Amino acid sequence: MRSQEFGPSLEAQWVRVRARLKGEFGEAAYKSWLKPLTLVSVEDGTVRIAVPTRFMQDWVRQHYSDRIKTLWRAENKLVRTVEIVVQAAAGVPAPQPASHGGTPMRPMATATGLRAAVSATAPAISRGGEENEDFGAPLDPRFTFQTFVQGKSNEFALAAARRVAEEAKVPFNPLFLYGGVGLGKTHLMHAIAWHIRKRHPQRRVVYLSAEKFMYQFIRAMRFKDTMSFKEQFRSVDVLLVDDVQFISGKDATQEEFFHTFNALVDQNKQIVLSADKSPADLEGLEDRVRSRLGWGLVADIHPTTYELRLGILQSKAEKLGVAMPPKVLEFLAHKIVANVRELEGALNRIVAHSTLVGRPISLEGAQEVLHDLLRASDRRVTIEEIQKKVAEHFAIRLADMHSPRRARQVARPRQVAMYLAKQLTSRSLPEIGRKFGGRDHTTVMHAVRKIDELRAADAAFSEDVELLRRMLEA
Ligand code: ADP
Ligand code: MG
Repeated sequence: MRSQEFGPSLEAQWVRVRARLKGEFGEAAYKSWLKPLTLVSVEDGTVRIAVPTRFMQDWVRQHYSDRIKTLWRAENKLVRTVEIVVQAAAGVPAPQPASHGGTPMRPMATATGLRAAVSATAPAISRGGEENEDFGAPLDPRFTFQTFVQGKSNEFALAAARRVAEEAKVPFNPLFLYGGVGLGKTHLMHAIAWHIRKRHPQRRVVYLSAEKFMYQFIRAMRFKDTMSFKEQFRSVDVLLVDDVQFISGKDATQEEFFHTFNALVDQNKQIVLSADKSPADLEGLEDRVRSRLGWGLVADIHPTTYELRLGILQSKAEKLGVAMPPKVLEFLAHKIVANVRELEGALNRIVAHSTLVGRPISLEGAQEVLHDLLRASDRRVTIEEIQKKVAEHFAIRLADMHSPRRARQVARPRQVAMYLAKQLTSRSLPEIGRKFGGRDHTTVMHAVRKIDELRAADAAFSEDVELLRRMLEA
């Protein structure tokens, strides 16, 4: 299979793969990591896709390549593998290897001819990612102080956020918010940003995820334009960076983040950071960065209490304008304890269901609709039990559930275990990922999809998984 044999449909296939990726991973991740991908060649069942830097290569391989492969294969059965290679785009200098740990551009022996073949059939394939987009991320209009419900578990973080939003002087720098998934960190950061923008439209408020910060920086390096990157950030009045745990370990970006951070603090500009752990517990950070992050005010958000969950449900139901029997709200507040996001999801499901079937909301109806969710939280199968059972069943070592090995004979059972963990426990994707040797939530997401696909295609395999599920539930 050579590029030419794909004919004009090659372009269309790639466009469709990209569209699916965008739909699945969302606008932000797509822009940061997937849009810059370029199709280089398709040969002997191998699709070669280029990224501009070594760092991006690692990231895309780790987080997206499985999915890219599956999507390609859905488009074209002849595709067997997908290779992510580093290649600077035409006319753009490759990043300097010494200064940021990237590899020099290594042209592939066969690339030129194939690229010519590809571009002859597919002139419209674009590299993307070059346009000058605003470097902040948009704010969610729902995330304001008005819609944030106060409770014991978040009152300290809320008070700190309000101070930062309302005070003319910088009260503490940085404000560091931390807590588990779905407990309101992003909500509070957006609330601060909204508040300041409204009160002081002249102040430059920038909110973005740490992932996006990294991407901006990498892109600047690629274009040898780190000066304007620096200028961009250093001219803001309030900088809010969400999920900074993503920055840990990436040396050059960590360094740059730290410089930006210091420059802003020196100019007395407000910084707000969030993470899933306290500065002291963040892994992969240099000590001086870690300690510096803890200099301001560190505020944690604890897991929700029953009262807070009930308060949030009442406020959301009111906003939705639906009559919820108090019994149903109490029931939900009792049963769905993992985080606020799941709580909202449950409420939305119940409302959607009652609208669809045209029946008023009742406790019985709610129990029925949330059947799967509730069963999962009732049974309390642990992820450890799942790993043990699945390892036994497939005769692999328990350690391979955590190991980085990617060989099919251990990777597949691991995916089955992740899939079952998602089905049988109320753990979030990141929590599950962490229990499998610190894998990313997207890896878990892939596993769940993969197993779903395999189950649909292979009845024997499906039965196998079902059997495991029943054993675990017993
Ligand atoms: P995190 O960033 O900590 O993972 P988010 O801020 O994205 O969590 O919150 C998840 C969802 O829960 C959002 O829809 C948010 O509005 C909602 N939420 C969390 N805490 C509260 C709260 N105290 N009051 C109202 N909504 C909340
Ligand atoms: Mg968040």
